Amino acid sequence: MFRLEFLPAEHGDAIWIELGSTAKPRRILIDGGPASSYEHGLHKRLSQLPDKQRHIDLFVVTHIDSDHIDGALILLQEAKKLGVSFGEIWFNGWHQIKSPEPGAFAPLQGEFLDALLGQPLYGKRWNTQTQGSALVVPEQGPLPSWPVPEGARITLLSPGPRQVARLRARWDSALREFSPGDSREALRRLAARRDYRPPETTALFGQKSFGDDRSVANGSSIAFLLEHDGVACVLAGDAHPRVLAASLRRLADSRNPGLGSPLRVDAFKLAHHGSMNNISEELLASVECGRWIVSTNGAIFGHPDRPTAELVAAHSRAMPEFLCNYDSDTTRAFAGDAQQPLWHTRYPGAGLKAGPAGGIVVDLKPAAKPKPPVRARRVAAASGRGKKVT
Ligand SMILES: [Zn+2]
Repeated sequence: MFRLEFLPAEHGDAIWIELGSTAKPRRILIDGGPASSYEHGLHKRLSQLPDKQRHIDLFVVTHIDSDHIDGALILLQEAKKLGVSFGEIWFNGWHQIKSPEPGAFAPLQGEFLDALLGQPLYGKRWNTQTQGSALVVPEQGPLPSWPVPEGARITLLSPGPRQVARLRARWDSALREFSPGDSREALRRLAARRDYRPPETTALFGQKSFGDDRSVANGSSIAFLLEHDGVACVLAGDAHPRVLAASLRRLADSRNPGLGSPLRVDAFKLAHHGSMNNISEELLASVECGRWIVSTNGAIFGHPDRPTAELVAAHSRAMPEFLCNYDSDTTRAFAGDAQQPLWHTRYPGAGLKAGPAGGIVVDLKPAAKPKPPVRARRVAAASGRGKKVT
């Protein structure tokens, strides 16, 4: 089984992945969605699990924007009470990105998550793949890649060193009240924040041109390729298209040297909720995919952008399909032309299975092994191969 659930995370991401056997699946969770979606999304999904099964093998917090990190802040505070345990937690926080020159200030939510992860309950599980340092794609050499349960594999696509450096620099301007890495102070302030036992959301960025996302936080997104059973999915966080394109190109070239062919994947969670700032021709030339996933209800930023679908369709050999985890005004406006569709759009209830806590379920099935052509089979039969000789 390779099952993705795009939980109802309003304008954010909360992606629940199950691998292996249906009876005892291994789980990867990517982001927690905004605070206001937590109770009816992630909290509900976790509460539906039998007490003994509340284990997340890998929890990835892609970046510090509130539509990704807020639910994680709430979850980590109540995980013990809910009986939820974690195998590993990936997050590039202050601890990972701080420069040799201390004294910079940190964005508040990043500090909060830093402080929570620094507690004994989580400390030993934080970025263990990199011995506690930042998850980052090096400028040169092979992309970092790690096995995950059930024989699956993760290959890191984002962030690069430049995105981490920019985050480090920007970490400077967002917070003035206390020093970065002051966990006691961060926890004290977190406890005083009503909105982290839900709701409330904050506004962020928004410009409209292809591939032009300049958000430092988005650029620092942890994005990766997850492969299992011969099936591959890109989970792009809100990463910048240039970074994704470069990594995918490198990966394709390392697997098929000299061919210049794009990397074939079975599904692609669009970065930044289908924003046209996070898609580009360069990215679309680096990857071949027929199924694109949009996680948003369109609140606050009006995502997804219709030009995203137009650009994807223009670069697709076959008619692409977009799977939305909400049926909302903005996702409806994203639908292909009814008369002459260049792409298909699917919604919960209408062609897409709902998950136990709402949202949508996407099952990625291993591709059937191609049968040999009929002629080859006849030749094999005639030559007696494959038959038992008596
Ligand atoms: Zn986002």
